[in-house]
Amino acid sequence: MPDFEITVVGAGVVGLAIAARLSEKHSHLVVLEKNEKYGLETSSRNSEVIHAGIYYKPGSLKARLCVEGRDELYALCRQHGISYQQISKIITATNDQELKRLESIYQNGLANGVGLEMLDKNATLRMEPHIETVGAIYSPLTGIINAHELMDYFYHKSTNDGATVQLRCEVVKIERTSGGYEITVRESGIESSFTCEVVINASGLYADRVAAMAGIDIDQVGYRLSFAKGSYFAVVPSKAKLISRLVYPVPRDEGLGVHALIDLGGRLKFGPDVEYLSDANFDYSVAESKRAAFAASIRHILPAIQDEDITPDMSGIRPKLQRKGELPKDFLILNERERGLPGLINLIGIDSPGLTASPAIARYVETLLS
Ligand SMILES: Cc1cc2nc3c(=O)[nH]c(=O)nc-3n(C[C@H](O)[C@H](O)[C@H](O)COP(=O)(O)OP(=O)(O)OC[C@H]3O[C@@H](n4cnc5c(N)ncnc54)[C@H](O)[C@@H]3O)c2cc1C
Repeated sequence: MPDFEITVVGAGVVGLAIAARLSEKHSHLVVLEKNEKYGLETSSRNSEVIHAGIYYKPGSLKARLCVEGRDELYALCRQHGISYQQISKIITATNDQELKRLESIYQNGLANGVGLEMLDKNATLRMEPHIETVGAIYSPLTGIINAHELMDYFYHKSTNDGATVQLRCEVVKIERTSGGYEITVRESGIESSFTCEVVINASGLYADRVAAMAGIDIDQVGYRLSFAKGSYFAVVPSKAKLISRLVYPVPRDEGLGVHALIDLGGRLKFGPDVEYLSDANFDYSVAESKRAAFAASIRHILPAIQDEDITPDMSGIRPKLQRKGELPKDFLILNERERGLPGLINLIGIDSPGLTASPAIARYVETLLS
């Protein structure tokens, strides 16, 4: 008999959502987290937006799981008192060229089954009088959520159902055994091992390294991650009421473009930009030297913001399967049965919309196990 039925590596929002779902039927489940608390990495360093599902390639896991997860998140928030607001969003075009690109984003969103509305200049300005616009997409289903409260909910649901969440416990080795896997962990410098049938790798920025521990050649199979930092700047409170919903530009390069975010406390922030890191040395500080470039990007959609109105805020790091300049890649979520590793579920490249999709990712993982 193995010591545990299921091991989840990583207690970010995805690992916790999976634990909350699977612990309903499998109480012999353990979640291992290397930090002193759950959710201290990417899951607490993001925009906390419930994405509607507009931009992702139709038919992709990102599109499907975002749309499903969005509806599930709103339902969870209502049922369990998790703070959220269905605040809505505008994607504003500022010239005729952007207006053309807006049309294809609109069609993409419709193909994903997202309810959207095209607005002309006057209708947009009636909603958001201070923004730069010649026309916009209105997304009524976009919202904001308190990611910590969501993770608290998943954590308590899992542990109430009998799961164990082991903190300060780093997975350092994974070995295939006849009946499953032997997991070696390091706690306070001491290594110990236990056995389990199923391993779910939800380790975010470390997911490629954890996959490699199980013997997968991550370069050969294309699992090696690259890292794209996203920084935010906060806007002075006196200008926080210039907009009343999230405002995004038409994306130009990678990412969704530096956009305006309102958090549940009413603070206005702009971000995140996209800065590929040269190595896996994660530094979350936000460079003051970015101020002028940030302010210029912001003025593109909200002209009243001056350089001195913004201050460096927080940052997060996206685990990406694509390299700089490449097209976005889909979530990679699969049972490694065909590589001779049955019961090893890898989740790699879970960047945005991973928070929104988290409950749907959990359901998808459950189907991979059945
Ligand atoms: C700047 C930015 C903005 C974003 N905005 C949004 C948004 O608005 N909406 C949205 O839907 N998504 C957004 N995302 C994406 C979203 O934040 C992520 O997809 C999601 O948080 C990923 O969760 P996770 O649990 O996979 O990873 P993580 O939160 O990184 O959790 C992984 C956990 O695994 C642990 N771990 C790693 N290795 C080991 C090991 N060996 N042993 C034990 N534990 C280990 C880590 O300590 C960590 O706690 C954004 C991301 C970024 C970076």
